[in-house]
Amino acid sequence: MDKNKLHRQLQRQINKYLSADLVADHPEIKKFIEVVNLSYLNYERDAELFEQSSQLNDREYSEVNTKLKAELLKKEEVHKKLVYAINELNDKKVNVDEEGSLIELLNILNQEINFKKEFQRQLYLAKSNAEKANEAKSDFLSVMSHEIRTPLNAIIGLIYIMEKENSLSSFQENIEVLKHSAQNLYLLINNILDFSKIEAGKVELENIPFDLKELITQIVKSLQVKAEENANKVQIEIDAEFIPNIISDPLRIGQILTNLISNAIKFTENGVIKVKVNQLESDQNNSKFKVEVIDNGIGIELDKFKQIFEKFEQAQNTTTRKFGGTGLGLVISKKLLQLLDSDIELESEIGKGSNFSFTLNVPYFSERTDLNSDILYHDYIEENLDGLRVLLVEDNLINVKVAEKILSQWNVKVEVALNGLIATEMYEPGKYDIILMDLAMPVMDGYEATINIRFRDISVPIIALTASASYGYLEKAMLLGINEYILKPFNPKELNLKLRKHFKTHS
Ligand code: ADP
Repeated sequence: MDKNKLHRQLQRQINKYLSADLVADHPEIKKFIEVVNLSYLNYERDAELFEQSSQLNDREYSEVNTKLKAELLKKEEVHKKLVYAINELNDKKVNVDEEGSLIELLNILNQEINFKKEFQRQLYLAKSNAEKANEAKSDFLSVMSHEIRTPLNAIIGLIYIMEKENSLSSFQENIEVLKHSAQNLYLLINNILDFSKIEAGKVELENIPFDLKELITQIVKSLQVKAEENANKVQIEIDAEFIPNIISDPLRIGQILTNLISNAIKFTENGVIKVKVNQLESDQNNSKFKVEVIDNGIGIELDKFKQIFEKFEQAQNTTTRKFGGTGLGLVISKKLLQLLDSDIELESEIGKGSNFSFTLNVPYFSERTDLNSDILYHDYIEENLDGLRVLLVEDNLINVKVAEKILSQWNVKVEVALNGLIATEMYEPGKYDIILMDLAMPVMDGYEATINIRFRDISVPIIALTASASYGYLEKAMLLGINEYILKPFNPKELNLKLRKHFKTHS
């Protein structure tokens, strides 16, 4: 807009309150009006920014908008003052000698202009941040679809080959790759779910006694194959003073450690990864210790330190291509550690390696009670469940087949209901020991079937075996009387353990 042209609103005010002569005769008033005009023009710019900001409907943006509204209110105040000032000038037919009052008004204006400048700067900043966040999100989506496609391609391709070749040697050769691809997909999807759970504030920590030393050993063992692929050695160094029996959330701590150790392995070749635990302090109840995961791999540039802990971010895009990954692991780890009243620390030098560490201060126990290893299943030995009668409620025939095969290995007697209605009809108290219930089914879903069964029997254990992993659904299922859930694709060891648990406690 032309600087010399008066804003139409201001023009109207002037026409209304000031005579043309008065303006023409007093250069001070003319100058004053120019300044007021500038402030009006700035309004236009702000309105435009406001318009742009409301187009980006990010969550972060609602905060900016609230701020914006507050600022606009403040502005209205200033605006009122200005109008009042013009009125005053007019009423008094302005005595220009009263320099004091004019200067005061100019001061107000000056303040307002500075305030607006700062406000504009903040808006630009917020806008560019929101744009960056949006970019990171779309990058994330493309990385994610690549990450999902890769193992999926392998699975589809291998199944095709296995079908064609139809030989035992081909099966044996490909089954490992299939397993690996399926596992990758599984981890990826779990990461996404965890992330959404954390974002929704739905993660609740557990306090379970467990042996951290044991947990570390198990995790390192499970990552051994990957370490060897990169010719890495993984060493565990645990302080002799360390009290391993702590009370905290083994699943979540395991998740953090798995993420840090597998990153260290991923970003290191021909190197050594050390997992160190040092006791810092302990009193009668609590133990404070530091866990470090140290590698001598590619390292991270100093200016990327902050970025890699932000959602969907990786140190560099080229890393993605070479190493894979979604950029969620560290965000999840950082947030979980915050829930555990801790934080993640990083020291790293490009080309030399990285040290990710955290300190925990948790209760401990001195006697080793029965530490069940619900936590990780790879060392769990499946039990024979001879005599167990299961009603499997599942509509997908392939899933039925897979579940039947797995259950028959443990000599479980299975009857199948292809939807909730059939299950409701088949069910009789005492006829089954456990019900495995899919949730999303045609005709009648698992929720309704559960309600129907619970009407007749409040104690038969119902385990939801479901792919609908959204936390809200699971919560709903638990409220309706489902005792436990297992997410599909399920780990047979987890199924065995949970069946065993309910079979034993119930019978
Ligand atoms: P990703 O699934 O991409 O590995 P993370 O959140 O676990 O996601 O890590 C984010 C990024 O941080 C990685 O892409 C990588 O650039 C960097 N990073 C993490 N750990 C290491 C490490 N030990 N050495 C070098 N870079 C690392």
